[in-house]
Amino acid sequence: MKVSKFGGSSVASAAKFKQVAQIIQADKERKMIVVSAPGKRYADDTKMTDLLIALAGKIQLGEDYVEEFGKVIDRYREIVTELEMSEEIITEIIDNIDSLISLHKNDPFRLLDCLKASGEDNNARLMAAYLQHLGEEASYVNPKEAGIFVSDEPGRARILELSYEELPKLKEREGILVIPGFFGYSEQGNIVTFSRGGSDITGSIVAAGVKADLYENFTDVDAIYSVDPRLVEKPCEMKEVTYREMRELSYAGFSVFHDEALEPVFKSGIPVCVKNTNNPKAKGTFIVSKRKVGDQPVVGIAGDKGFCNIHVDKYLLNREIGFGRRLLQILEDEGISYEHTPSGIDNISVVMREHQLTPEVEERVLDRIQTELEVDNISIERNLALVMVVGEGMNSSVGIAAKATEAFAKAGVNLEMINQGSSEVSMMFGVKADALEKAVQALYNTYFNKMYSISYSSVK
Ligand code: ASP
Repeated sequence: MKVSKFGGSSVASAAKFKQVAQIIQADKERKMIVVSAPGKRYADDTKMTDLLIALAGKIQLGEDYVEEFGKVIDRYREIVTELEMSEEIITEIIDNIDSLISLHKNDPFRLLDCLKASGEDNNARLMAAYLQHLGEEASYVNPKEAGIFVSDEPGRARILELSYEELPKLKEREGILVIPGFFGYSEQGNIVTFSRGGSDITGSIVAAGVKADLYENFTDVDAIYSVDPRLVEKPCEMKEVTYREMRELSYAGFSVFHDEALEPVFKSGIPVCVKNTNNPKAKGTFIVSKRKVGDQPVVGIAGDKGFCNIHVDKYLLNREIGFGRRLLQILEDEGISYEHTPSGIDNISVVMREHQLTPEVEERVLDRIQTELEVDNISIERNLALVMVVGEGMNSSVGIAAKATEAFAKAGVNLEMINQGSSEVSMMFGVKADALEKAVQALYNTYFNKMYSISYSSVK
């Protein structure tokens, strides 16, 4: 049995609904369907979730919201009309949104979260109704009924373990089940959404909960590419990638699959296949626990901007017990999360997302490090980008780092930092943000472009 999740671009219009229905009907194993809210129909279209956020904003300000409400309903109406379905479902959607507004109008956070969730919720009702309209035995399943229980953190929910006791019961149900992505219910009974793009998480939770044979994630590309196709023309497609590799790539900027979505399937060892709704015959990319490395130790290259680095020097730092802990404690006190901590004998750097360091926070943090840790020197470097070279085969191949540094040297990219964890599934390079594209292209040519043909020797 397969759990198939269709992302926003796959359910953005009536034409897309038809494609999705054909995909579902083509394979009897596609029994559990998870849908996003309608996404963009064209490049500068607005996603349903963003229309709903705008609607919540107007209500919170106490302003007239007829126009925003209308835009939301029009998107659904367009789908219903083109699919020649009964108008009744539009009335149900209007009633549903109206009741959410009157229930939560005095609680802006809840209202925002409930309205966001309604995008997928109403779209799932619509998809189930459309499948019925085509003569299929299909039903809409609310996440509470499915057993998707989450922490009560609006906009950043996390799954609660008790869900995995409830979800297996879905298997007893007949027909095709359509479940809305992106939200669950807290134990207090509130609707709570995951972070943006979180329908991937719902799909993964359902797949793990029902122990599916495969979790299919339908999107709008034939496969996941080894590098961002906006940076390199026609890059290689990844046939197979491991969970660990995918996690590293998503973290560093690959947006095809939500990085939190891998955990449930990873823990239960369920393979994921990322496929194209527009071209379902394409094999797609499989995300699995193990892959044959062969002569391709590097599977992908990712890069992301928006990092900064706090660097401290202190003579005999290596002898000072507790220095690292006290340094990180200062960041913890400010609620700052860090990404990497490359270090030397008498120095340590802490790399973090720079939006966390507002001018006031920066002043406080640097001041505390200087006075409490009595460092010799402290500096901060902003506008950094991190480039990750990812591949399970790297720990058994010699010369991967050499190739990278050689490629950077040839391309004139100055390296600010290098970090490699002992797992050797990724290597991180810090460069100036404006050198990111050049750095990624240079690495891609080194590892993937046959013209530059390289060979590695294996570690004996
Ligand atoms: N609709 C939500 C968003 O745009 C969730 C999703 O599509 O996965 O973030």
